Amino acid sequence: MTQQHNHIYDAVVIGGGAAGFFGAINIVERHRSASVLIVEKTSQVLSKVKVSGGGRCNVTHQQLPLKTFAKHYPRGERELRSLLQEFSSTDIQKWLEEKGVLLKTEADGRMFPESNTSQTIIDCFTKEIQKKNITVKTSCAVINVCKKDNLFHLTTSEGELRTKYVLACTGGSPNSNHYNWLKELSQSITPLYPSLFTFNAADHLLKNLAGVALPHCRIRIRNSKLEEEGPLLITHWGLSGPAVLKLSAWGAVELAERQYSFDALIAWDHSFTEASLKEKINALIKEQGKKKIHNTSIDPVPKRLWELLLLQSDIDEEQTWNNVSQKKMNKLIEHLMSYPLTVKGKTTFKEEFVTAGGVSLKDVHLHSMESITIPGLHFAGELLNIDGITGGFNFQAAWSTAFIAAKNIVTSLNKK
Ligand SMILES: Cc1cc2nc3c(=O)[nH]c(=O)nc-3n(C[C@H](O)[C@H](O)[C@H](O)COP(=O)(O)OP(=O)(O)OC[C@H]3O[C@@H](n4cnc5c(N)ncnc54)[C@H](O)[C@@H]3O)c2cc1C
Repeated sequence: MTQQHNHIYDAVVIGGGAAGFFGAINIVERHRSASVLIVEKTSQVLSKVKVSGGGRCNVTHQQLPLKTFAKHYPRGERELRSLLQEFSSTDIQKWLEEKGVLLKTEADGRMFPESNTSQTIIDCFTKEIQKKNITVKTSCAVINVCKKDNLFHLTTSEGELRTKYVLACTGGSPNSNHYNWLKELSQSITPLYPSLFTFNAADHLLKNLAGVALPHCRIRIRNSKLEEEGPLLITHWGLSGPAVLKLSAWGAVELAERQYSFDALIAWDHSFTEASLKEKINALIKEQGKKKIHNTSIDPVPKRLWELLLLQSDIDEEQTWNNVSQKKMNKLIEHLMSYPLTVKGKTTFKEEFVTAGGVSLKDVHLHSMESITIPGLHFAGELLNIDGITGGFNFQAAWSTAFIAAKNIVTSLNKK
């Protein structure tokens, strides 16, 4: 880095992820002669983009009214309303379209590149970086940042850097050391928790049903107000699927405080209530009272799960609908609408995990993503105390915040 030693950059972007690349490109898009450097501590840039969305990159979610869109963020909902106003899901779609990348929308609103591969996004960003002469320095970790005489001085693993503006895009981590350089600048960091994880259940009876998926369950946490609906997947280690991931996001703080030890209560269909199940069961007794209960499950419970629920309700294979005792039927109803599963621990492996917590939004100007206490220092992406549920919401937060930060850096550069 000797050649760069004396150079004063217009902006140094810390972190070569989604927010960092998008921010850097947007600075030069608005200020062609700006000298911008991206520093990335690992040897690979855009590594999360690469693996995101199962290798397909769920770039964003289809446009919704802004208030509704913002409701998908357990942390940052209120702030997102104004951030999305400035740069929305439609805006990233248009931006990518102008660069030749078309997105497609899936039935649940998630948007992916038409090519079905995250490489398309990486190729697009890489091309823009080259076209705009943005320098990317990999294997270079920023260790410390200080501001002297209106310039930022960055201590990195590869030497010193000087710049007029900093765009911090270092991503999230539940490890507080990740934010040390910011704490040294007295930037306040809210408590950190993992979000978007699946539930572990040691030796659970459902284990033999690994792979069974239910289209629309309701899961509650015992002794809590936490409740979510959506598709559910039984895994060999516990529970997964969108309903669980959503619950983990909304319950990120509460479940951490319980040390991930709690009872999940599952209704195998969101419509199951005591009254609705009694009605269905009475109809089945009427229609096929002499038939074996094992042979007809209540929709949409798959046969393998149905057999387990009967077993756990002490209803044996030979029993017919009309000779099951009321007590056993009540037990079955209980298992259909409130099946208890003891959760001990969580798993983030391969999931779209994110960090809840980070740079406090109270210390950031939302119109510019600039630090209130350290003018010139800007933030974008997951290092902020913003996180969404799955569905493209986390990348959207990265695009919106990076766009706003870039725009403000350019406004400031133009004033100098
Ligand atoms: C497996 C997986 C799949 C996902 N899929 C999706 C999806 O499909 N859709 C979606 O919306 N969200 C998804 N997410 C979440 C999304 O990837 C993140 O929210 C997003 O990448 C955040 O972007 P970022 O630029 O803020 O941080 P990151 O992408 O984490 O980038 C931060 C970069 O900064 C670098 N860095 C950190 N500290 C330093 C330092 N001191 N000096 C220099 N460099 C540093 C890191 O090495 C990293 O490269 C997924 C997450 C995971 C883990």
